[in-house]
Amino acid sequence: MYGKQLKKFLNFLEEEGFKIHFGIDSSLYYEDSLIVCNSRLSDEKTLYTLLHEYGHAVLRNNEKYCKIYRSQFKEKIDGRHGRSNSFKIDVLREEFDAWRIGLEMAESLDIPIDLEKYDKYSSKYLKSYCHWVCDSNQWSL
Ligand SMILES: [Zn+2]
Repeated sequence: MYGKQLKKFLNFLEEEGFKIHFGIDSSLYYEDSLIVCNSRLSDEKTLYTLLHEYGHAVLRNNEKYCKIYRSQFKEKIDGRHGRSNSFKIDVLREEFDAWRIGLEMAESLDIPIDLEKYDKYSSKYLKSYCHWVCDSNQWSL
């Protein structure tokens, strides 16, 4: 049912110069213009995942990326910073933004999305990021 929409978005990604590989996990390799997508997903979930990973690419493409998510860049200087609240919140913010941009992209390409399912699917991933943010810090302020 979602095969047609998925094909449309895959074509768009190719036109944008992205390579798409199917593998175990889903991730964007920005420098290589490569999106790896979990191969075990339905067409619908593959579409949502690719929209999200593309959302990350749009964010990375923004020249202000380093300023918007500035705490993520400190991490490369100091490993301890990777456990800080500001770093984790920045990662979380980017995740929220990437899901939002993915949805905007679908709208602008006229790819119909079941909003309820998209929200449910994205929330599952966002929730696990929220756990990661909260777990190890134990509410230390
Ligand atoms: Zn993400």
